[in-house]
Amino acid sequence: MNIAKSEELYKVALDLMPGGVNSPVRAFGSVGRNPLFIDHAKGSRIFDVDGNEFIDYVCSWGPGILGHAHPEVIEAVQKACVDGLTFGAPTRKESELAAMIRDCVPSMELMRMVSSGTEATMSAIRAARGYTKRDKIIKFKGCYHGHSDGLLVQAGSAALTQSVPDSAGVPASFAQQTLVALYNDKDSVRELFENNKDQIAALIVEPVAANMGVVLPEEGFLEFLREITAENGTVLIFDEVITGFRLSVGGAQAWYNIDPDLTTFGKIVGGGMPMAVYGGKKEIMKNVAPTGKVYQAGTLSGNPIATTAGIKTLQLLMDHPEVYTKIEANAKKLAEAFKMRAQQKNIPLHVNQVGSLLCAFHTAENVKDYTGALSSDTAAYASYFGDMLESGIYVAPSQFEAMFVSGAHSDEDIARTIEAILK
Ligand SMILES: *Cc1c(COP(=O)(O)O)cnc(C)c1O
Repeated sequence: MNIAKSEELYKVALDLMPGGVNSPVRAFGSVGRNPLFIDHAKGSRIFDVDGNEFIDYVCSWGPGILGHAHPEVIEAVQKACVDGLTFGAPTRKESELAAMIRDCVPSMELMRMVSSGTEATMSAIRAARGYTKRDKIIKFKGCYHGHSDGLLVQAGSAALTQSVPDSAGVPASFAQQTLVALYNDKDSVRELFENNKDQIAALIVEPVAANMGVVLPEEGFLEFLREITAENGTVLIFDEVITGFRLSVGGAQAWYNIDPDLTTFGKIVGGGMPMAVYGGKKEIMKNVAPTGKVYQAGTLSGNPIATTAGIKTLQLLMDHPEVYTKIEANAKKLAEAFKMRAQQKNIPLHVNQVGSLLCAFHTAENVKDYTGALSSDTAAYASYFGDMLESGIYVAPSQFEAMFVSGAHSDEDIARTIEAILK
């Protein structure tokens, strides 16, 4: 594969940005390669600056559920641009998108639009603290909720493979407000509640953990979290930045039938534009300024172009429920192919899959938490990554990320991918 132009651009970028990138995982560090620079993308395909074409399973880390550059989304965005890119004032479109979100996710009684998932989780936690008048929060080891100070406490995602388990620059006193429990381990949660009576403002969780690879909640785990938070007057926050509008239009909370107090959305909700949302129970959200004393604001919040892309994307998903059936069926086919690969090559692989999210961990362990995920052989993953790239398949440049199936993946794309998996 010729990557001369990518190499050239990488050299230029290295002189201008830390590691040449604007988000660490893009640097390909954990697969021991230099990053590919992308020129454009269409449908299921992504094209680099050297003209190499790949079937894409990163999908911009989730937003691309309809594939790249969906013609209806692009057309709507182009039309919206002509009317101005930002006003810093309310628009009809914000209410239109908010009403669609509430139709899909009834727990979103009142909501606020922001520009990134990081902002959404950070603000949801502030709202929970303002409402409960408590300071501490619980998060789970291996769950990622963006890079705000209080949540970069043993964060997953890129931090996992960047060999920086926490982040420099986060004051220890901030981190002390964050208690870390173990995913799928009820006792670890019980213990934190017992040791911090009446002090825990919020418990934040990815209902399906998708930033340590993909780890599913065990039967009863989410129900348990709903019960113990209710008993303790703690706000239950579902971080659905990945699962929202991906598992179903109702997200993971509809899939598992749980009613969280607050929810965060990102990625798909902006249809590929910078847009995220936090919201939930009116009683909590009414405390956000200007109606309440929890301050939160944003110059580009509810941006008209981002809301346009979000509205069109959600509309397409609501109008075409068959997309969900198709992407889940395709994810299952890929999961089967990984199981076959393990048998044929006699290598350890553990496959987790739910809806259109999947991950093949290079381990013999049954991965149900962070420790299980960490038992993966990342060198074996790097070698698999390289082989897939050579076969024209673009998967995440890290073991600890999901494989995203989109509505644009055709039967032929899936067949070619299975061939590459079994090669
Ligand atoms: C991506 C992600 C975030 C952070 O969103 P950004 O838009 O990257 O700030 C938060 N939570 C989860 C679950 C995510 O996957």
